[in-house]
Amino acid sequence: MSADTKPDPIAQMEKIVSLCKRRGFIYQSSEIYGGCGGVWDYGPLGAELKRNLRDAWWKAMTRDREDVVGLDACILMNPAIWKASGHVDTFADLMRECSLTNKRVRADHVEPQAGVIMNYTGAESPTGWKLDRVLSVLIKKGEHIESFRKRVRLLIASNAGDSAGKPEEIVLLNETKSDEVTASVDFHPETGGALGAARPFNLMLKTYLGPTATEADVTYLRPETAQAIFAQFKNVLDSSRVKVPFGICQIGKAFRNEVTPKNFTFRSREFEQMELEFFIKPDEAVEIISGEVAAWSEGADLTEPQPNWGWQMWHRYWVDQRTKFYQSIGLGDVLEYYWQTPEDLAHYARACVDILCEFPFGTEELEGIAARGAFDLTAHQNASTKSQEVFDEDLKNAAAKLTPEQKEALIQKRLAAEQAKVKGEPMPEAEVRAWFERLFKGNYVPHVIEPSAGLDRMALAIIAKAFDETVKTDDKGKSETITVLRFHPRVAPIKCGVFPLLKNKPELVAKAREVYALLKTHMNCFYDETASIGRRYARQDEAGTPFGVTIDFDTLGEKGPELLNTVTVRERDSNAQHRIPISELLGWLQARL
Ligand code: ATP
Repeated sequence: MSADTKPDPIAQMEKIVSLCKRRGFIYQSSEIYGGCGGVWDYGPLGAELKRNLRDAWWKAMTRDREDVVGLDACILMNPAIWKASGHVDTFADLMRECSLTNKRVRADHVEPQAGVIMNYTGAESPTGWKLDRVLSVLIKKGEHIESFRKRVRLLIASNAGDSAGKPEEIVLLNETKSDEVTASVDFHPETGGALGAARPFNLMLKTYLGPTATEADVTYLRPETAQAIFAQFKNVLDSSRVKVPFGICQIGKAFRNEVTPKNFTFRSREFEQMELEFFIKPDEAVEIISGEVAAWSEGADLTEPQPNWGWQMWHRYWVDQRTKFYQSIGLGDVLEYYWQTPEDLAHYARACVDILCEFPFGTEELEGIAARGAFDLTAHQNASTKSQEVFDEDLKNAAAKLTPEQKEALIQKRLAAEQAKVKGEPMPEAEVRAWFERLFKGNYVPHVIEPSAGLDRMALAIIAKAFDETVKTDDKGKSETITVLRFHPRVAPIKCGVFPLLKNKPELVAKAREVYALLKTHMNCFYDETASIGRRYARQDEAGTPFGVTIDFDTLGEKGPELLNTVTVRERDSNAQHRIPISELLGWLQARL
């Protein structure tokens, strides 16, 4: 937004959704059949944008590092993985159902409603259809009683199907008025119908693997990419030259049967995740090897990982790394952080920070970075009965030098920590002692730090941040609102537009095609020879293209040899124009991408 005032969030989202469709960023899935709830397709520009984000993440997380390797696992896996991980039993949102329409809403997503509660003992229609249950519906302030009744009849009819007959003939029985409410979360935000009690709703999408399609063949579309990393941990460890601390990262599709998909692609039922599992030594192992565990304090140096880092420093390090990543793609100034409180945290988690981003509809989670202890690998070790331990020679050697008193002191410290746990059961003493026995021999199940980001949310955040409108007034005083997507050049779907000044001058066109051919093997470019040059710039501004190259008569040397084979490069955001020799053009652009 150019002006200081904040735009109306709903209008802003409508503009973004409409631009995304018009310019081929994002389309509703199955649109010609009326859509498919919570599922979105990416058009030509959206596909390029997503690819750029995916590549940027992959480069930052693995290619640029020596301590992270990649994985590309399948969406379908043995359902035992989802049982062991806890997803079958607990991957659920609490949902509530509208008593009028059976529409579901996530219990924590109910916006507070105001109005007066109207009650009916039931409803019936001349077809003989009957609804034999108490209905409570909220009539909103300013809603006329007759239009309210009509609305309720329509909602009942659409839920009942043909058997209820015509909506206008439905009779609402024994109407009474009860309390006025001002901020109640007990009514469906769309229908006003009273909501039932909260019930867990498992978010995993079920499917069958194999042709018999019996209950024994049930499996799930993965609700996160992380579990495949844990399940393949040992294979990666055994087949790559990695040593703890190291990470495995993966990008891929995930599926969740979200109760209320909403806010465009923000909460979808099919989406892409970019996850890293970074495996670290338990703090006790660090203490034995390094003689201490570096404590976190504000301003601690996070630039280079150190051997004495425990989970806290590693967690902070990844929050810092991920923040730097967001800064590198132009989201640095719209981030906030929510540190989960001990009450928010899952019982196994030691810390979790949500990186939040400012969207038009509010400040919401973009990525979660959790310190998950050894929970996941231990769960798979127990369920599969395959050891997930690593052997650490340095640890074994360092432990061999400890006196029995020093060993006992470590055990006592851990026992005290178990007793001080806020959530979950303390580990029994016998188990603690057995764990230390393995540790002193150099064996442990690694702990993990998990930065988990959503690609679709990232793409939406980038589009929302880039969205801008400017008003342009031409020579005749006619004003027009122009949309500009101010993408960071690194993620922009098209990096450069190439324009011959005129399309009916073969020499200009030939030169422009030559420039286009030169650039397009190195970056995504767009060649355009139709309409005025101003129109072509505007089209590319709307697509978020940071640079435009114009080939004019000067390029052909018509104004003299000094401008021969030079082009004009226009910068989208500053409108600055530079005259650059074609021989230097590629390097000039590459330095800015
Ligand atoms: P939320 O609280 O918003 O439902 P979550 O905490 O369940 O998210 P995680 O399980 O931590 O999310 O998933 C990691 C990341 O995956 C999220 O930060 C988000 O970017 C992305 N993600 C999760 N669910 C969805 C979804 N339904 N649609 C799009 N992206 C999602």
